[in-house]
Amino acid sequence: MGWSREFIEKVRESTDLTDVARDYGDTKNAGPGKIKMNCPLPNHSEKTPSHYVQKEFFKCFGCGEGGDIFKFIQLLENCDFNESVQRLAGRAGLSPGPEDWIGGSAGEDKRKDLFVAIEMASEIYINRLLDMDNKDAQKARSFLRERGITGAMCQTYGIGYSFPKTKGLTDGLIASLKQPLTKYFKESGTKEVEIPKKIESTLKRAGLASEYQDKTTDFFFSERIMFTIFDSTNRPIAFSGRQLPGGKDPKYRNSPETEIYKKNEILYGLNWAKKHIAKEDRIIICEGQLDVIALLESSLPVAVGPCGTAMTENHVKKLTGYTKNFVLSFDSDAAGQNAAEKFSQWEEKHNLQIKAATLSSGDDPGDYLAQSKLDDLVQQLEKADPFLRWRINRIIHLGKVETIEERVLVANSALQIVKDHHEAMYHDDYVRYIGEKLDLPYTGLRQKFDETSKTPQQKAFQGNQLPPQNRKPPSPIVENQRKAESKETKISTTLGNRVLAVLLHNRQTLEQGEILPNKLKAIFFPTKAQGNVFEALLNSQNVDQAIEQVDQSSEEAQILQELRTSKPNESLTAEIVSKQVGELLIRRIKNELDLLHQEAKATNNLELITGIGDEKTAIKTMEDDGYDLFSSEADFLIEWLHERLEK
Ligand SMILES: [Zn+2]
Repeated sequence: MGWSREFIEKVRESTDLTDVARDYGDTKNAGPGKIKMNCPLPNHSEKTPSHYVQKEFFKCFGCGEGGDIFKFIQLLENCDFNESVQRLAGRAGLSPGPEDWIGGSAGEDKRKDLFVAIEMASEIYINRLLDMDNKDAQKARSFLRERGITGAMCQTYGIGYSFPKTKGLTDGLIASLKQPLTKYFKESGTKEVEIPKKIESTLKRAGLASEYQDKTTDFFFSERIMFTIFDSTNRPIAFSGRQLPGGKDPKYRNSPETEIYKKNEILYGLNWAKKHIAKEDRIIICEGQLDVIALLESSLPVAVGPCGTAMTENHVKKLTGYTKNFVLSFDSDAAGQNAAEKFSQWEEKHNLQIKAATLSSGDDPGDYLAQSKLDDLVQQLEKADPFLRWRINRIIHLGKVETIEERVLVANSALQIVKDHHEAMYHDDYVRYIGEKLDLPYTGLRQKFDETSKTPQQKAFQGNQLPPQNRKPPSPIVENQRKAESKETKISTTLGNRVLAVLLHNRQTLEQGEILPNKLKAIFFPTKAQGNVFEALLNSQNVDQAIEQVDQSSEEAQILQELRTSKPNESLTAEIVSKQVGELLIRRIKNELDLLHQEAKATNNLELITGIGDEKTAIKTMEDDGYDLFSSEADFLIEWLHERLEK
């Protein structure tokens, strides 16, 4: 069942894939008849183009995907082969005759009637809005005009106006759809006598009409601005009706769920945004339809929003097929508490890189469109904070911070957020950040932080991640020792990795702070592997060169691979790094002292540890002073470490 071979070949001949590809991103010439572009496929994003396209074929050397024109459309539009032929035929201006479709019956896709009905309804709504003679829609037109929505935009985004209730039960949309739907069903071979019933059931199945006092009615949307909702392949599937000022609540009313409209799958705007997402490698998530449209009109046209429901994990999963970089847009500090909490869990679970921005003065993105200030909107989103920092700032902004007691209370909440964050590499930076923001001393905060436990909710969440199958319960004593040991080691290793990431991404910061070339040495790191990675990075321009210097199956290679996925931390100052390196040193020294204790015990040679009082004093001083790397204590301890390791 499907298109005839002749028709398929006709479509192929009439199509130039290099033309088609231009719809999906910027392209560059790559020789005669050949172009290249950043891979537009949903599961691959890249910064330098390795996706090559010719008249009939494409090949991506980044993700390996390749094929002909139909495969290209199937992958990009998430459709089947028959639909890809249909789309390209439409693009090439070919209209298939009845002989071009072979073997298929009218019932090919049971959902097809619903798409058709919604599309017709959408056109009717749009015409009602844009028809200047239609006085009913006057108020809606001025409302949209004030919001910066032009007639052309109404056409592009499928914005229309519904019917008033006063007309009677079936005189509105249903009456208007009768003629075109009759024509459609006739052409698709439905028997004349069955058509009225078919129309009625289609309208109900499409969520356009419902039963009321034994009659079918379209009261559901009365006197609302109608936003057509499209699926990601650009098919109209439902509506969201917005009230006019003074109109009936709720503000937004959406079509009921249908066979083609699943609220926890559909993201408003994705059909328009997706071709830009590959290039931008990020998605902006906002709330209402007008917010999404405002951004689609800006120079950052990558906005989507849930419709008819809050964001769900299912939405997130769907978006991760395009990119893992999310920007959340909030109109005020107080808004989006629930969303923020949910996203913080999804961030870890789906390995997302989330940023968030609170727009100034409580505006939502739609307001920027109304005031012709889209550039301003884009600027604010470009400056979005990393999600963790945004959440901390938000708590501080919302909290009372006049007295020291109030600041400590706020700090406790902020520390909890940091503690709950899965990426331990960020913890220390943010403890310092909270200290600076609230003018509280670091050491006290750090101590508090170390005493803070993860919230039960978060523990349960992480528990879900790691089912304890195949694990025999260890004896409690062994387990406790192991925990204490591994916790210390883990903190040190994490800190070591953090410093290595700084060396990789922000070497100049280390040099500015005079931490390199003379202060920081390989021996500061808790493991030999990290020390080796440090040396390798020091002698390389980038990760790849460093990897060449180590054994490919070694722990060193693994650390370097992990570092490859780390990102530069723009907020780092030489002072902060210097303190991190100071802490790295202290942890290393303490570890060495522990070993010395164990040695002394094992060999019964207590002399080994009789002379370490000075070291302990130096450690204490450095801890109290926030790990000053340039203190005489630090010099003393470095010297001690050198001597100890030489032995
Ligand atoms: Zn690719």
